[in-house]
Amino acid sequence: MMKQRLTVLGSTGSIGTSTLDVVARHPERFEVFALSAATQVDLLLAQCAQFKPRFAVMASPAHAQVLAEKIEANGLPTQVLQAQDAIEVIASHPDVDAVMAAIVGAAGLAPCLAAARAGKRLLLANKEALVVGGGLFMQTVRSGGATLLPIDSEHSAIFQCLPEDPATWADRVDCILLTASGGPFRQRDPATLSQITPDQACAHPNFSMGRKISVDSATMMNKALEVIEARWLFDLHPDQIKVVIHPQQIIHSMVQFKDASILAQLGTPDMRVPIACGLAWPERIASGASRLDFSKLASLAFEDADARRFPGLHLSWQALKAAEGTTAVLNAANEVAVGAFLSGRLRFDHIHAVNLATLDAVAPSKPDSLDALLDLDAQARSAAERAADRLAA
Ligand code: NDP
Repeated sequence: MMKQRLTVLGSTGSIGTSTLDVVARHPERFEVFALSAATQVDLLLAQCAQFKPRFAVMASPAHAQVLAEKIEANGLPTQVLQAQDAIEVIASHPDVDAVMAAIVGAAGLAPCLAAARAGKRLLLANKEALVVGGGLFMQTVRSGGATLLPIDSEHSAIFQCLPEDPATWADRVDCILLTASGGPFRQRDPATLSQITPDQACAHPNFSMGRKISVDSATMMNKALEVIEARWLFDLHPDQIKVVIHPQQIIHSMVQFKDASILAQLGTPDMRVPIACGLAWPERIASGASRLDFSKLASLAFEDADARRFPGLHLSWQALKAAEGTTAVLNAANEVAVGAFLSGRLRFDHIHAVNLATLDAVAPSKPDSLDALLDLDAQARSAAERAADRLAA
């Protein structure tokens, strides 16, 4: 068997480390070609020592310099790339077969587009790249001949339930049902949302994840981003995408067909399952996750999302029905607002206020290039910063 040569973007994060955990179980299948990180030099160094990639990249020159010195001091064979576009270089290098896109936020868009343009097998965890890039992203996947495999557990579930031939989806699929845990505040009194601290928001009931996606899960903006992600991945009308709260996170999502039959994908909540699925697809490999024990499952519960507790969720459908760049504006606003909440500058309930104010302030046109998208992203970030300043005053 030819080994799959893999680049892991965001290798020091929650998805990145889970990916390397699965990869380490299958040395006969995978060879790590390159790794990238932003701030965690020592963890990236340890990953270089374990996986001996050809290249390693840090997002900033200062961190890259420190890593290069440590790699040399440890006598490791890895070369630290320091070019400004080094992340794109390792995402599109001719010797790479597959790219795990696990950078958080819109910062992952340019490398994802580079991998898509180069026709790679692209394992997409970085949902914000698709929320920002939308049509341009999918167009680049098609024109580059890339294979796009969803890693988000909900989208992996939908992907596994859909018929193999995408040409049949429009005729057969009625709608998809994205399940949501409801996060740590599913039953919290909406009147107390203003008192929530960053550590409370990051304490997800079922998953240990990066801080940004943890806050997004607590506001259900994560589900809003996933609705937008699903629209593009599966070419659906926004009204064909429904959300249902399912606190146990055993059913990862469902597809309802025209005859009212529903297919669901189930398993223990462990991101190594969709990661292993994407890495090996269409084959199946061990992920390290524990098996679901039906005899220990007390019940599977379902409920609607309360709009007073989760006002941000519905912004996804509104944004999808507005001009195409609106989802990029929403994403930028949310990144700024979550960052301001995590740094203690804004209250939890201000996140939604910043998102609304930014959507009001920025009128998007349809962005048809990466530069146009980055420009819109920058405009939205400035508007969101102004809204955050007003709220924090
Ligand atoms: P983390 O915050 O844990 O990790 C993010 C990774 O990206 C780290 O390696 C980080 O480097 C790197 N990074 C951060 N900022 C930049 C930047 N500006 N440029 C380059 N690299 C950067 O996030 P998660 O792993 O939780 O999430 C990654 C993506 O996967 C997100 O888009 C998230 O929505 C999605 N996802 C995550 C799930 C989860 O269970 N965690 C589930 C489904 C989807 P460093 O750590 O060195 O600073």
